[in-house]
Amino acid sequence: MARTEGEEPTALLQRLPGVRLLSLTLHETQMVTPSTRRLRFVGEGLSDLEVRPGQDLMVEVPAEGRRHFRRRYSVRSLDRAVGAVDLDIVLHGDGPGARWAAAVEPGDTVEAIGPRGKIFVADGADWHLFCADEASLPATLAMIESLPPSAVAVALVEVDGASDHVAPGSGPEALDLRWLHRTEPAGRDPVMTTAVTALGLPAGHGHAYVFGELHVVAAARQALVGRGMDPADIDHKGYWRLGVANAAHGEPERPRPA
Ligand SMILES: Cc1cc2nc3c(=O)[nH]c(=O)nc-3n(C[C@H](O)[C@H](O)[C@H](O)COP(=O)(O)OP(=O)(O)OC[C@H]3O[C@@H](n4cnc5c(N)ncnc54)[C@H](O)[C@@H]3O)c2cc1C
Repeated sequence: MARTEGEEPTALLQRLPGVRLLSLTLHETQMVTPSTRRLRFVGEGLSDLEVRPGQDLMVEVPAEGRRHFRRRYSVRSLDRAVGAVDLDIVLHGDGPGARWAAAVEPGDTVEAIGPRGKIFVADGADWHLFCADEASLPATLAMIESLPPSAVAVALVEVDGASDHVAPGSGPEALDLRWLHRTEPAGRDPVMTTAVTALGLPAGHGHAYVFGELHVVAAARQALVGRGMDPADIDHKGYWRLGVANAAHGEPERPRPA
């Protein structure tokens, strides 16, 4: 459904049933890795918010005079008893979202809309395959942690190096978690496609979740289809696009058809 930059939050909410406008206050921060900052927010409305693993909040970030400029960040965890939500945000360099995430301080307030997102862990799959990068690791970890200990799951996570590794706190006992270290800049390195192409897929009916840079996601999805996976069993989403800022509603801009 198309959204426009100047759309009022209330208009957006009316069009998205079950979604709430949240006024959040930053409680504390923590560096999860040298490049990812965890922001723990508290606020009314969190203690009974229904969030499924993999869903996100649309956060209004400052953007030089532009109204209702938003960035989407996955719910890493929600503590309903305390009324607190954790967002893990990559400080990738330059962009309104990354600048805000690096500068925000305890006591600062922000408006968020959520939960958003329609990709969930598939019921009834014999195995699950996750393809992720640093930006999609929070959603991926939340989804992995929601799987039972007996589940069969493989996770391919593309990062710069070992300091970016973050393991799930729970989930499948036999999780096959593989870290793919880039030798090229994020968005240009073929390491994910190479790994997907070489991966021995488990037996049975699997489901894949492919999240990350727009072109990396498209190439990895194509490689999975080439491996014989039914496109209906592959959920995929571009989180960001190399060299192109996400739109004011938080999604990557799609390449224009030639
Ligand atoms: C559903 C959804 C959930 C998301 N969840 C998370 C999350 O939990 N944590 C998180 O950190 N991000 C998450 N993202 C990605 C995040 O919203 C984007 O990375 C967003 O572009 C960041 O905004 P920005 O203003 O910092 O950069 P933008 O203004 O969008 O981009 C500016 C420049 O930075 C580059 N860039 C943007 N993101 C990255 C990156 N990750 N690595 C390297 N270069 C980048 C762009 O290519 C562009 O050149 C999510 C995105 C979606 C759609």
